[in-house]
Amino acid sequence: TVRTRIAPSPTGDPHVGTAYIALFNYCFARQHGGQFLLRIEDTDQARSTAESEQAILDSLRWLGLDWDEGPDNGGDFGPYRQSERAELYARYVDELLEKGHAFKCYRTSEELDALRTARQEAGVHTAIKPSDLILPAEEVALRESQGQPYVVRMMVPEEAGPCPVTDMLRGEVTLDWSQVDAQILLKSDGMPTYHLANVVDDHLMGITHVIRGEEWINSAPKHILLYQYLGWDTPTFCHLPLLRNPDKSKLSKRKNPTSILYYKRMGYLPEALLNYLGRMGWSMPDESEKFSLQVMQENFDIQRVSLGGPIFDLEKLNWLNGLWIREDFDAKALADRLQGWALNRENLEAVLPHVQQRMNTLSDFMPLVGFMLAGNLPLTQANFEALKLDQETQLKVLQFSLWQLETLGVWDKEAIFPILKTLADGMGIKMKDFVAPIFVAVSGTTASFSVTDAMGLLGSDMTRARLRHSID
Ligand code: ATP
Ligand code: GLU
Repeated sequence: TVRTRIAPSPTGDPHVGTAYIALFNYCFARQHGGQFLLRIEDTDQARSTAESEQAILDSLRWLGLDWDEGPDNGGDFGPYRQSERAELYARYVDELLEKGHAFKCYRTSEELDALRTARQEAGVHTAIKPSDLILPAEEVALRESQGQPYVVRMMVPEEAGPCPVTDMLRGEVTLDWSQVDAQILLKSDGMPTYHLANVVDDHLMGITHVIRGEEWINSAPKHILLYQYLGWDTPTFCHLPLLRNPDKSKLSKRKNPTSILYYKRMGYLPEALLNYLGRMGWSMPDESEKFSLQVMQENFDIQRVSLGGPIFDLEKLNWLNGLWIREDFDAKALADRLQGWALNRENLEAVLPHVQQRMNTLSDFMPLVGFMLAGNLPLTQANFEALKLDQETQLKVLQFSLWQLETLGVWDKEAIFPILKTLADGMGIKMKDFVAPIFVAVSGTTASFSVTDAMGLLGSDMTRARLRHSID
């Protein structure tokens, strides 16, 4: 039976790209009466967080992309979180070492830097091969006896030559072995890399079709080689085109909101977002623009995926969401959605502590928090003209803040404040004047409650969208 999976890394906000890939895996599995799995790829321990994992699960569930097996609901092939599978990977690393398909690499980072510099200077652009790295046996023995750290790398062919990869959408793609490096399989901390863990898990979990983003196609040769080394059948590969910004560049959070949480907060309906993602590179046989998940699944045909990069366009999503709102809901159903959205108890309780002291009547509430429930604010030049800083400096404040905030890993008030403070100090501007344009961009007024509190509650993508909007 067909088994597919979505394998996100919990290293940030849940990405719309993850939902898009999940949707196609889901439809493919369901259409074939198979199973769709969720596996958490958290081998990067430094960047993975439990909050991110939870947000990914919640977001996919919000969209209605239910999985048959996963870290929360279990299954016969668990655990479904890679950090809980370390012993399994170690077993296969031993096997690869024994069979001579992998080697322990004791090279220090200084040696690797020197190697890279030397190759750069010599104009060598091919991948780093085992022969570049393997030390004489006595040197290995010496470093081993000194207890030096090592990584395990895979053996790969040294010679250039065609290396075919079969892809469901592209047929046979020919890459070259000269570009395939002696990939690290096991890091010095004993954790596997993505490449090893992914292959081992796809095999052990019985994945028949690996449907993933195009960014991985260049890794496919290594994966195929690992399947061969381990004596396993290779699954069928299908690399989907990546989502793009309207300017054709890869969808990135610097230009477009990419977090599913943003789309939820903006008030897009899960039905409409899924419908829109279903149109990314795919179309219904009758070219209809509006369709439900059920209808997509019934009509799904992966061969209808077109390889041109699909453009994720907010205007089109808006239009489609509008169709859903106007055509598929009566007032009662829409009221339910509004309550489930931002007008829910959880949100009210989170924002109330910030405004309660300013309220005389309950009706004071909405004017104080209206901006928390809005999308982009209707700002004009006049909103900014009343402020102390000149326009040019305001623009710098907004732009520099935006750039700094993009790099923030954990998004909360405690992390946001020092970033703004450091910038203000660096620019020699009093904090009060510095945050004024940010207040206007985020809250529409300087008379609102603490702007860092508001930013924390609004989330990263919503806040950055408003900053970007105020600059444009
Ligand atoms: P950055 O914004 O730093 O470039 P990113 O946008 O690539 O990062 P990641 O955190 O690396 O985001 O990716 C999260 C998940 O979203 C990955 O599974 C990745 O495959 C997927 N993804 C990222 N960008 C796209 C895209 N343009 N189209 C489809 N999927 C994407
Ligand atoms: N963890 C990888 C990612 O987040 C999975 C890629 C794959 O599907 O093989 O993109």
